[in-house]
Amino acid sequence: MIDIAQNIRKIRARIANTALACGRSPESITLLAITKTFPVETISRAIEAGQRHFGENRVQEAEPKILALASRAHLEWHMVGHLQSNKARRAAEVFDVIHSVDSIKLAEKLGQTSVTLGKQLSVLLQVDLGHEPTKFGIDPKEIREILAAILNLKGIRVNGLMIIPPFFENPEQARPCFAQLRDLRDALESEQPACLGQQQLSMGMSHDFEVAIQEGSTLVRIGTAIFGERSHG
Ligand SMILES: *Cc1c(COP(=O)(O)O)cnc(C)c1O
Repeated sequence: MIDIAQNIRKIRARIANTALACGRSPESITLLAITKTFPVETISRAIEAGQRHFGENRVQEAEPKILALASRAHLEWHMVGHLQSNKARRAAEVFDVIHSVDSIKLAEKLGQTSVTLGKQLSVLLQVDLGHEPTKFGIDPKEIREILAAILNLKGIRVNGLMIIPPFFENPEQARPCFAQLRDLRDALESEQPACLGQQQLSMGMSHDFEVAIQEGSTLVRIGTAIFGERSHG
């Protein structure tokens, strides 16, 4: 049986070591445990091991799990998968942070729902640097226009950028993507200070999070290295 508590400890140690080795504070990096395909009992074991930040990639799958765990104190739920506009209302209700905002239309729906809930939803803009495996994400050429429009919306706050690079056998190959996302964040922030509230960078998964941290990641999204391989189908 997989030792989730031990896996979390090991990942936290690797995050801390990598951060310290490049002069960053380990506290500047949040570990998101990605629980898609895993049941509530598995998530409970992670909670018992002290984990508080969780990520899911589908609203329908996440909602019952989030509701089942609603009595657990201080959990934070992040939506990391592609979000269709027709699921925006449910997503705004159950999640604390949405990593995958890639259109004004989606942002408007999230904002409208958040306003009716009296909630301020934290969102990240998903960026497509041109080599992503999915077709989702904002073209950097359009991000200024989209960001400007979203900054006017009520109910949501843009707190940074997110990327899903292609899977490379060698994580070093993902480094240029991570560096480009950081440069884009820095450029946006220097052009329009405070446009990105918290300036988060959501990048890095089980096989490449150390490279992502070296390039400035503040949110690493780790599934397999904590919970083991997901069964497909
Ligand atoms: C599944 C998923 C992850 C976690 O991937 P692992 O390789 O299992 O760590 C991270 N980010 C997103 C967007 C995902 O869908």
